[in-house]
Amino acid sequence: IKRIGILTSGGDSPGMNAAIRAVTRVGINSGLEVFGIYNGYKGMTEGYIEPLTRDSVSQISNRGGTILGSARLPEFKDIAVREKAIKQLKKRGIEAVVVIGGDGSYRGALSLTEMGINCIGLPGTIDNDITCTDYTIGFYTALQTIVEAVDKLRDTSNSHHRCSIIEVMGNRCGDLALYAGITCGADIVITKDTGFNEADVLDRLRELDTIRKKKHAIVIISEKITDVDEFAKKVSLNTGFSGRATVLGHIQRGGSPCPFDRLIASQMGEKAVDLLMQGIGGQCVCIRENKIVSYPIEKALKMPSDSRKPLTNLFERLI
Ligand code: ADP
Repeated sequence: IKRIGILTSGGDSPGMNAAIRAVTRVGINSGLEVFGIYNGYKGMTEGYIEPLTRDSVSQISNRGGTILGSARLPEFKDIAVREKAIKQLKKRGIEAVVVIGGDGSYRGALSLTEMGINCIGLPGTIDNDITCTDYTIGFYTALQTIVEAVDKLRDTSNSHHRCSIIEVMGNRCGDLALYAGITCGADIVITKDTGFNEADVLDRLRELDTIRKKKHAIVIISEKITDVDEFAKKVSLNTGFSGRATVLGHIQRGGSPCPFDRLIASQMGEKAVDLLMQGIGGQCVCIRENKIVSYPIEKALKMPSDSRKPLTNLFERLI
């Protein structure tokens, strides 16, 4: 192959730029021409595609977000829309594409591969909700942001005998909450895996207040579980703590990527180019047990989520 494209799709994550840089530089250094496809599948369909050079990806590894922009285009499920996108690629001689995004983006990549454009998926999301990989690009940076925020909330909670309830992202994956719970020394972690029994949590908080005599309590909860403002009111009414909810929201998606995210983004970008040069498509790149490997996207999307038991047990043994 001679020409490849690269795009970022779905929710952005810190480290996407390091992956764009790696794909571009490794591609060019392997004799390929590399094209940036702007705004995900939307730009592919509209033909918003421009060549990338070694210089156009200079000084981006340290920046959050994605220089290519990201967008959602639900209509990409429609074959006629994908045909239009493929026409735009063929017009420019682009034979294969690296797609950085989450599982929705992977589905688009698989459909394109089935239509003759080899695609390789890279896991770009802070949520760590792609089962086949131990870590996604952006997860550790988001974790760092959460840890910094919780450390600050802890100071002020302690002064005011508060219970801080901190809602973190993760889509339906509890990893951000669980890893934050361990690294911030939270009292309670609530995820899809732990389940949420409100009465039990209130009991635990009363015990922390009256028996353990704690000056504050930290509860970390995954998004999409309950209304944390309502829950904070119940904490104030039913325990000795004054409940305060903080939804960290989109600050978790931004910021300069940490070294680990830059490193795996670079390694995964390299692997994607190598696979495409071997004529392979329909695969996604993962890090598993410290090795960069790839799996067929079809298989990856069907993998049941890993058990988080060892870390859940560790959390319980630390409190
Ligand atoms: P993420 O990649 O972060 O999971 P989305 O689920 O929003 O984010 O998917 C990103 C984009 O991928 C969608 O806006 C759409 O363009 C494309 N996409 C998602 N699902 C499919 C599908 N089944 N077939 C083709 N394209 C899809």
